[in-house]
Amino acid sequence: MISMKEVWKKYPNGVMAVNGIDIEIEKGEFVYVVGPSGAGKSTFIKLMYREEKPTRGDILIGGKNLAKIKERQIPLIRRNMGVIFQDFKLLPSLSVYENVAFAMEVIEESKANIRRRVMNVLEIVGLKNKARFYPHEISGGEQQRVSIARAIVNNPSVLIADEPTGNLDPDTSWEIMNILEDINNRGTTIVMATHNKEIVNTIRKRVIAIEGGRIVRDEAKGDYGYEK
Ligand code: ADP
Ligand code: ADP
Repeated sequence: MISMKEVWKKYPNGVMAVNGIDIEIEKGEFVYVVGPSGAGKSTFIKLMYREEKPTRGDILIGGKNLAKIKERQIPLIRRNMGVIFQDFKLLPSLSVYENVAFAMEVIEESKANIRRRVMNVLEIVGLKNKARFYPHEISGGEQQRVSIARAIVNNPSVLIADEPTGNLDPDTSWEIMNILEDINNRGTTIVMATHNKEIVNTIRKRVIAIEGGRIVRDEAKGDYGYEK
């Protein structure tokens, strides 16, 4: 599903954020990415959805090499990927419904089909009754649920999450994890960078630890492994 071979990323300022990473992630896996601040987790994640281009190496996702594709092919690749962030990144002037519908690929889709699909993903994240609300009218946890709905509306095979619980209180974080597990159980591969020790040590999944831009640990049902 996702395969990185000898991947390096050097930023224009000379910082080597990723130093020769090799990794294979199978379809349907749930993978936590952990490590200290500045370790290269975000860069690793950004390489996966082609927010950053590798300086060297190959990144294969669903048969496409992200290192080789043209700029204009990026939207095509992203269609098969959902991304969620710590700060949600919702569009403030659009309602919950519109934020999700806006992300939907609408090539020759009827209004009725769009509506059915948007309401269906809002139901998956438990927000059907808030479709008409605006981001500032709902809680942080609800905003993250909207961003999850937006990320899955095109049925992506991969969901990438960069610290999705970073701005949420513990109870809300567990709710978000329940939704992510549900999505994973429906077959979507999930890669999630996190600092949430309690979650990693409770909902046991594969753990990849990154330090200094290298993978220093890769364990099935691993633990968080850091103090905080
Ligand atoms: P983490 O997510 O583990 O905190 P990052 O991938 O954000 O790590 O950062 C890894 C290293 O790359 C750090 O030294 C950071 O300062 C540097 N870095 C991150 N983004 C950029 C950028 N856009 N330009 C230059 N250096 C960057
Ligand atoms: P930006 O100009 O901020 O990089 P984009 O034009 O790339 O934004 O995307 C528009 C909005 O959709 C942003 O809020 C961004 O965070 C979000 N977004 C972009 N790509 C994806 C994706 N694959 N899955 C979910 N949300 C995405």
